[in-house]
Amino acid sequence: MQIAIDGPAGAGKTSVARALAQHFQCLLVNTGAMYRAVALGLSQNLQLSDVHIDVLPRERLLLNGEDVTEQLYTPEMDELASQIAARPDVREVLIAKQRQIAQRQSVVMEGRDITTVVLPDADVKLFLEASVEARAQRRARERGEEYHSILEQIRERDQRDGQSFARLQITPKTIVLNTDHKSLDEVVALAIKAVQRALQGRNISGKLSQ
Ligand code: C5P
Repeated sequence: MQIAIDGPAGAGKTSVARALAQHFQCLLVNTGAMYRAVALGLSQNLQLSDVHIDVLPRERLLLNGEDVTEQLYTPEMDELASQIAARPDVREVLIAKQRQIAQRQSVVMEGRDITTVVLPDADVKLFLEASVEARAQRRARERGEEYHSILEQIRERDQRDGQSFARLQITPKTIVLNTDHKSLDEVVALAIKAVQRALQGRNISGKLSQ
């Protein structure tokens, strides 16, 4: 089974994807973390061809065999990942890797181009949207950083992310969930319902295991 989730930074994708992965017993693949790991490798002067990423269960990520999960969520990596994600050669490598992972097991895969480019034929396609202010508030709370500077950064990244590579687009078969003014529990409940309904429509119902 493939559940694809897209949406802008701070819309709550990772929390929702995590809950769906647990509920439907799939591997959670956070593709933003993969771009961040490549950014980390390139910042260490590795060539792209020498960067190898492994996605493990429980959201662990290996860069050339080393667990770098804890190094990926810094303001520096926010910026660098957004910049290197605009490189066609980086996208080509990561998209191939993401498709390979999704062929081998059931996945909930989240990012910016999963519903449009990576898994356009996924069983269920979701797009989480939220106002830029709500997203900045969420990020500021999560990271303990200043609201206005986060707001500015998110605006810049939205602009860069939306400019190319069919990112942050909504296809006709994508279900859009707005997360403004909703708790995580409410959004998760809606997302689970949306997935169940979509799976019933495709004659795959109930909980699925890998
Ligand atoms: O989601 P996250 O903020 O961790 O993503 C890091 C960066 O990776 C984003 O700024 C975005 O530019 C890029 N990205 C992407 N395509 C994806 C996932 C993330 O371009 N599928």
